[in-house]
Amino acid sequence: MAVINILSQHVADMIAAGEVVERPGSVVKELMENAVDAGAKNITVELRGGGATFIRVQDDGCGMAPEDAGNCFLRHATSKLKDERGLEAIATMGFRGEALAAISAVSRVELLTRRGEDAEGTRVTVEGGDILEMHPAARPQGTTFTVRDLFYNTPARLKFMKSDRAEGAWCVQLALRVALGRPDISVRCLRDGKEEFFTSGDGRPDSAVYALLGRETALSMLPVDGENEGVRVTGFVSSPAMGRGNRAMQFFFVNGRSIKSPILQAAVEQAYKNTLLVGRFPACVLYIALNPGAVDVNVHPTKNEVKFSAEKRVFDAAYYAALNAVHGENRPLEMELSAGTKKKLESAPAPAQERPAQREDRPKPAGATRFAPAYTKPPRGELELHSPLPVYRRSAPAPYSAAAPTAEKSYTPALPAERRPEPVPPPKPDPAPEQATLFAPREAPGKTEKPAVRLVGEVMRTYIVAEQGDTMLLIDKHAAHERMNFDRLKAAGRQIMSQTLLAPEPWHPSQEDLEAVRENAELLAELGFELEVFGEEEMIVRSVPDALDPAQTIPALEEISEKLRRGRRDLARDEILQTISCKAAIKAGWDTDPRELQVLVDKVASGEIKYCPHGRPVAVTLTRKELDKQFRRIV
Ligand code: ADP
Ligand code: MG
Repeated sequence: MAVINILSQHVADMIAAGEVVERPGSVVKELMENAVDAGAKNITVELRGGGATFIRVQDDGCGMAPEDAGNCFLRHATSKLKDERGLEAIATMGFRGEALAAISAVSRVELLTRRGEDAEGTRVTVEGGDILEMHPAARPQGTTFTVRDLFYNTPARLKFMKSDRAEGAWCVQLALRVALGRPDISVRCLRDGKEEFFTSGDGRPDSAVYALLGRETALSMLPVDGENEGVRVTGFVSSPAMGRGNRAMQFFFVNGRSIKSPILQAAVEQAYKNTLLVGRFPACVLYIALNPGAVDVNVHPTKNEVKFSAEKRVFDAAYYAALNAVHGENRPLEMELSAGTKKKLESAPAPAQERPAQREDRPKPAGATRFAPAYTKPPRGELELHSPLPVYRRSAPAPYSAAAPTAEKSYTPALPAERRPEPVPPPKPDPAPEQATLFAPREAPGKTEKPAVRLVGEVMRTYIVAEQGDTMLLIDKHAAHERMNFDRLKAAGRQIMSQTLLAPEPWHPSQEDLEAVRENAELLAELGFELEVFGEEEMIVRSVPDALDPAQTIPALEEISEKLRRGRRDLARDEILQTISCKAAIKAGWDTDPRELQVLVDKVASGEIKYCPHGRPVAVTLTRKELDKQFRRIV
């Protein structure tokens, strides 16, 4: 009996649709890109709910002839590519003729289109890939695609959809990227009848940058403009003071196409070397313009990855352009804003402490509207860079307490209650023998006692040296502390202790981060975060987990939202506990009280702690025998 079936064209199309149309956002992207390719000057995107029930994209581009209006839904029907030679230098967004076939295979589509030269337009309705009707119809020049009931005939895919909120936000995000890639096109985006964003199409990316990155980040952007061997790089990078906890705010465009690019990402991050803290990422909106022949866009189904023929040249161009911006002349962090953006900006809700008193008094240069960042919070990194945070001292002055929100508690009670410090802990580089005994590992009765452990000291402000019988221990103090925190949080049960911040901390997450946080509000509350939505896109953090150093609030939230977006739902809780544990742990390079080191030594010596929550070892050991061998005392 034959076991191989030849799939019908219809089924094949539905499978192909899975590659191109993953979520409603993919439909928005493909339809908008078609509008861009059609030479539109104005594009309107409307969606309802999360986009699955309704997406409409209208443009004033070239429109289609009646016969093309029917053919465009066929697989491999494209007006953009004639033969394989065209593949070598693609200057359009689309080229495979797959998107409309894929979209129409899994939804109900209505197309209304008219070319300028035609007396009348055409209306086509398609359902599950079959053309149902086709009539002449009236329309000004341009095209409207309406896509309803996405995935109505592929229930499996429907199951993978997230909430309307998340899918809708992703649609808006993708629309924004298309808009940002082409500042010369005016894009209006409506969701449930409400305007999500509008770009004027005046050729300047700033209003879209503002909409995409949010006020705080947009105002701190440094302009970029550079060229290297035919690769032009323009756009914006964030000032080093504005490092972020993840890469959600890095956007790259190659010839107007939004792409992911490890090379460009590395180039930009390299430019921040030694100016951004490790673990912080720059934000950027970078436009790379180069000869279409020097970039292959046909390497990924959704076309959001590309291959450069001269990677080094592209890397260098981006690196030097960003470097010049970061280390350029000390220009004030200013950005020209269009009148529309400025209006939006002024009406935007700003947290009280951010609202600039001096904005109105600033002299405005004639002809241009200029803005300086009104809110100059000291760089977050300062705290860690210039003054190692004493985990131990409650009385230590918080270095930026005068200017920035501080918390009720300026340190983390990282140790068990009975070992909390006196106000000034006397340094004890060499603990008394009875102390060593006191904290010797407690073995279960019946087991052979392990020898007592002695703290010898610390090297490189990173590794603890200890001895236990005939074994020398080298312990990574951060990793060990991280593990200890993690275990305690895990043992604490469902509801983690929370601390109220003295001054609530404003947070401006990216749209995706915001959605992730909203979706997981319950989990975050359990973990001790109290967050409040403020205005459209701002959050106010009122409480954080008790174990977390309040100065780490925003970095922790950024890392957590990244994990929530990327990670598996069932693992979310542990992942977040890991972040809290890490952010609450003492760091390499910090001064640490010897008694705190002792606690860690005890935990490791007793075998309670072996690996950090990420699975790296916390200690390495050297036995007397190994040392004796090294010194050739024995052979
Ligand atoms: P591709 O964009 O790869 O060519 P699509 O399936 O997205 O494939 O579109 C098929 C064809 O339909 C396009 O090549 C174009 O000729 C036509 N088309 C699609 N959308 C529009 C539009 N908004 N305006 C004019 N023509 C369009
Ligand atoms: Mg297309």
